[in-house]
This record gives sequence, C-alpha cells and structure tokens, in this order.
Amino acid sequence: MAGIVVVFDFDKTIIECDSDNWVVDELGATDLFNQLLPTMPWNSLMDRMMKELHSQGKTIEDIVEVLKRTPIHPRVVPAIKAAHALGCDLKIVSDANLFFIETILKHLGLEEYFSEINTNPSYVDEQGRVRISPHHDFIKCSHGCSLCPPNMCKGVVIERVQTSLSSEEKKKIIYLGDGSGDYCPSLKLKEVDFVMPRKNFPLFDLICKDPLLIKADIHEWTDGGELEHILLNLINTIATEENAQLISAADCKLQTMSAHEALPQALPVRQ
Ligand SMILES: [Mg+2]
Ligand SMILES: [Zn+2]
Repeated sequence: MAGIVVVFDFDKTIIECDSDNWVVDELGATDLFNQLLPTMPWNSLMDRMMKELHSQGKTIEDIVEVLKRTPIHPRVVPAIKAAHALGCDLKIVSDANLFFIETILKHLGLEEYFSEINTNPSYVDEQGRVRISPHHDFIKCSHGCSLCPPNMCKGVVIERVQTSLSSEEKKKIIYLGDGSGDYCPSLKLKEVDFVMPRKNFPLFDLICKDPLLIKADIHEWTDGGELEHILLNLINTIATEENAQLISAADCKLQTMSAHEALPQALPVRQ
C-alpha cells in the first residue's frame, strides 16, 4: 500500500519541545536569546546563538548530549515505525535545522525512516561551531508568502510534494503539525488529504477560526498516544478503502471476462 505520504512537522509534533529552545535553555543561554530575539529573525538568531555558545566554550559534544535528552512521548517512535511498515512514504518539514533533527533521529534509531527532511540547512564548521542558514534565501528573493517566516514557507514545500505526486497514481497526504508555520501548508491540502493539528496549539486555533478554509479532513490529537492511534487508524481506513476499490475493479474485470466467455460460440458454417 504505497498510496499515502505522511508529512510530519518536527518540534512539538515528533518531539515534545522546540529543539531550538531546548538547546538554548539547556546550555544556559535563555537570557541572551530573549534579549536578541526582538532584533533579528529567529533563524538568524539561532545561528548567532550557536556562535555565542561556541565562544563560551560549549562543544558539539555538549550540544549532541543535550539533543539526546530531548523529551519525546513514548508512543511517537512506534507510531512512525508502524506507519513506515504499512508502506507510507514519510517526510519531515521543519523550521528547526538539519543538524538538530538528524542528531535526534539518529539517537531514536529513526534516521532510515524518512525519505525527505525539508528544513534549514546546517553543518559543523572547522572550528566546531554549528552553522545554520535559511531554508529559503530571503536575501536573494522573498518566497512571497505573507503567512510564513522569511526563511521558510512550508506551503512551498507541500506544493512541491504535491507536484511530485500528481505524476504518479492518486496519493493522499496526511499532515501533522502544531505551529502557526503549519497553517500555510494545511491550506494547500486537497479534499482527499488529512490534516492532524495538535489540539489547543497555534495550528489548531488558526484552523478553528475558519475551518471551511481547510479542504482536508481535520483530525486533532493531544499527545503522542493519540497521534499514534489516530494516524494508524487513518492509514488503515485509507488502505481498506483502496483495497475495496481494487477488489471492485478486479470484480468488474472478472465479470466482463466471464461475460465474454459465456458468449455463444459461432458455429462453423459448413461449406
Ligand atoms: Mg512544531
Ligand atoms: Zn507560506
């Protein structure tokens, strides 16, 4: 059953916290972060915070240790593994950064489960400092979406995923998220798709303001246990419908075939 693409937000969806805040708080740089936040975009600030932490003597190992302690609900990893085992194509779309996400996924044993991680690029430079750059180069040109932060429009990512799917057979998207940045991609989903907003988080509140703007089916969840239950239920329901369609198509074909076979054979005409 390869008809479903599951797109996960990362912070507060896969993990319980915001990975940027988690690293900054755990390494004792919260005050500086709050002081600088009004002066620059979040994404640029995170690169700056990595520079500050590096100059304070914090190493990559310190950051990795903090990332390994990231809180996660115990049912999220089994949910991801089960969705993958059911044949779904899993992707991540996140405004965190690649180094944080890959480090956490590797620690959870999940690095092989996602076909795509769409996020802000990052790497460790020669000095051992984490460098973070924007997913979308907004200095060169704007992505033109007023709903999203300058460095990333998740709606653009979803549109690209949709374009890549339209050439294949009809696939459905299930999108899971919590934040206001997940609203733009939710608006792009089609009638056949599903959105799973985390209940009482910004995405859910935005959807509730005018649910008619959302074409996809809405299924809210509160914690990792509900995420697992609802996600796997949706996948199984879609799979059952797909199978029913396949069976009825096959039935139809069989009936046509047997109808043909039942046709009286023309008698050979004797000359
Ligand atoms: Mg999030
Ligand atoms: Zn957008």
